[in-house]
Amino acid sequence: MDKYGVLKHYFGYDTFKPGQSELIDSILSGRDALGVMPTGSGKSLCYQIPAMLLPGISLILSPLISLMKDQVGALVQSGVPAAYLNSSLSATQQAAVLRRALNGAYKILYVAPERLNSEDFLGFALNTGLSMLTVDEAHCISHWGHDFRPSYLKITEFISRLQYRPVISAFTATATAKVRSDIAHALTFKDPFVLVTGFDRKNLYFEVRKPASKAAELIKYIRSHAGSGIVYCATRKSVEQVTRELQDHGFSATRYHAGLTDSERRENQDDFLYDKKTIMVATNAFGMGIDKSNVSYVLHYHMPKNIESYYQEAGRSGRDGERAECVILYSPKDVLLNRFLIENSQETNEALTAEERETIKENELDLLKQMTFYCTTGDCLRSFILEYFGEQAPVYCGHCGSCDTVFESTDVTVEAQKIISCVIRINRMNRSFGRSMIADILHGSKNARIIDSGMDKLPTYATMSDDSLHRIRIIMDYMIENQYLRISGSEYPVVIPGRRAIEIVKQNTPVFMKLPMAKKAAKPKPVKASRHPDEELFNKLKALRTHLALKAGVPPYVVFSNAVLSEMCLKLPCTKDELLNVSGIGPIKCERYGDSFMRLIKDHIESVSEN
Ligand code: ADP
Ligand code: ZN
Repeated sequence: MDKYGVLKHYFGYDTFKPGQSELIDSILSGRDALGVMPTGSGKSLCYQIPAMLLPGISLILSPLISLMKDQVGALVQSGVPAAYLNSSLSATQQAAVLRRALNGAYKILYVAPERLNSEDFLGFALNTGLSMLTVDEAHCISHWGHDFRPSYLKITEFISRLQYRPVISAFTATATAKVRSDIAHALTFKDPFVLVTGFDRKNLYFEVRKPASKAAELIKYIRSHAGSGIVYCATRKSVEQVTRELQDHGFSATRYHAGLTDSERRENQDDFLYDKKTIMVATNAFGMGIDKSNVSYVLHYHMPKNIESYYQEAGRSGRDGERAECVILYSPKDVLLNRFLIENSQETNEALTAEERETIKENELDLLKQMTFYCTTGDCLRSFILEYFGEQAPVYCGHCGSCDTVFESTDVTVEAQKIISCVIRINRMNRSFGRSMIADILHGSKNARIIDSGMDKLPTYATMSDDSLHRIRIIMDYMIENQYLRISGSEYPVVIPGRRAIEIVKQNTPVFMKLPMAKKAAKPKPVKASRHPDEELFNKLKALRTHLALKAGVPPYVVFSNAVLSEMCLKLPCTKDELLNVSGIGPIKCERYGDSFMRLIKDHIESVSEN
C-alpha cells in the first residue's frame, strides 16, 4: 500500500490537503521535517500516514494527556493499531502497553514527554528501534514560544541516547522564525524539510471593540449573532459571571474551565458540540482538539495574553469556510490583568530555576506587548497578524474592523490641555489617582469618592462635562501611549505627567489623534440558508452517531465528522460503494457503521416519499 492507499483505506479521503503530501514524502525518504500549519489543516495525517508505511513503531510526543485517549480512540476506530502511554494509566497497564509494543502490536504509540527519561521506557526504545519520532505541538520546546514546557527539553537528551536516530518530524500551528529555529536546534535536525503554509483565513473577520461596558456590549453582540459561538474569558471567575449574565438574559449558554469536575466539563462540551447549547463561555482550557465546524464567532471578553494563543482560539471559528467573526472586547485593564497572570504563572513551577522563570516571564511580557499593540492599532488587523507570523500582507484587507471603520484625524488639543492641567493640579496637592477617577473628575461625576476627597472643588472639575467618559478615556489612553502622560505607582497604577507633557503645557503644541467616526450603517447580514439540504435527516444522522459513539465509548466526531454527515444528506448513500464515495469513510468505518447508516437513510427516504 502507498500513501494514497493508506489515506483512502484508513481515513476515507481521496486527496491530500495542501502540504500533506510533501511532508509525508519527506519523512518517508528519511529526511527530517517540520510542518507549521494552522489549526484544522490536517497535521495529524502528516505523521500518521508515514507511521503506517514505515517498518516498526513510531513515537508521537504530545503534551495533551487528556486528548491522547481520544486521538488513539479515533485511530483504533479507523483500524490503525495505536496505543498511548501516560500517567493516566496504572503501572500494570503501562507495563502491558510496553510489552505489547515490544511484540509489535502497534504502529503508533503516543507518549507524554515526561516519560522519556524513565529507564523502562528508554530500555524499550533501545530494544525496538524506532522508525520515526514525531513531536506534536513542537513550539512547546522553545522559550520563545507562547507555551514553553520544561518536559519538552527531555526530548533532546532522549534523542542523544538512542543508538539509531529515527527520522524526526515536528508539527505546530504557530511558530515565529525564532521558535522554528529553536525547534530545529533542539531536535538536532539535519537539513530538514520545512513547510510553512499560509496563515490567512479569508473567511474570518477580525475586530477589536473598546466598549464603555463590556457586559452590555456582549449582550448586544450576541443578540445580533444567532449562530453558535465561543466566549473566552481570562479567569474562571469571569467565566462564571459571564455565563450567569447570558443565562439571565435568556441565552442558551454553558461553561468550561479547569475548576469544574471532569464529568461536568465533558457534559458541557458535548452540549456545545451537539448544538444543545449555543454559546460556550470558557477559559483557554477549552478548545484543544475540538473539531466543531459551525462556530460562527469567537469573542474574547478579555484581551488574550499573546497573538499565538489568540490566533489559535479565534481560529476555532469558521472551520466550515463560512464567514465568521473574531472579536476582542478590549479595555486597558486587560493589560494589568494579564500582567498579573503572567507574574504569578511560573511561581509554582519547580522544574525551573529562578533564572529560567525570570526569562520566561520577561518573554511573556514581551508577547503581551505585541498583543496590546494589536488591540490598540488603527491599522489593518489581518495584516498585523500575518506580519507577526512572518508573512507578507497588504496594508488593507477590506475585511476587518480597522479596514471597515473610517478613522478621522481629530484635533484634541483643548481636551489634552484640560486633562493634563487636571493631572498636574492633583499632583501639586500631593495626591494621585488612577485613570478612571481622573476621567470622572473631568467629566464631573458625582460619586462618593469624588465628593469625599473634595475633588469636586478642583477648578478642573467638570471641565469636560460635554464629553462622554468613554471619549475622555480614549484620549487619555492616546496621551499615555504617546508619553504626554505616564502610568506610575507600585501599589496601584496612577496617572502622572509624562515626558512630553511640557509640549502641551508650555509650547501649546497641537495634538491630533485618530478617532473613529460613527461606523457605516452595518450591512444587513443575509439570513443563513440551512447548511444541509435535509435538516431532518441531518438530525437523525446526528442522533444515530451519538448512539453509536456512546456504545463504542468514543466522542461522536470520532465516528463520523459533521462534514461526513452533511455529505450523506446530499448523496443519500444506500449501498456500500455509494458509502465509500463519501469523503471521510474508508472500508473499515464502512464495515463498522455502514449498515446502521444505510438503514437509516433508506427508512428516511421511504418515510418522506410516503408523506
Ligand atoms: P490539525 O491537527 O492541523 O488541527 P487535524 O489533523 O485535526 O488538523 O485535521 C483537521 C480535520 O481535517 C480532521 O477532521 C481531519 O479528518 C480532516 N482531514 C485531514 N486530512 C484530510 C484530507 N486529506 N482530506 C480531507 N480531510 C482531511
Ligand atoms: Zn484589514
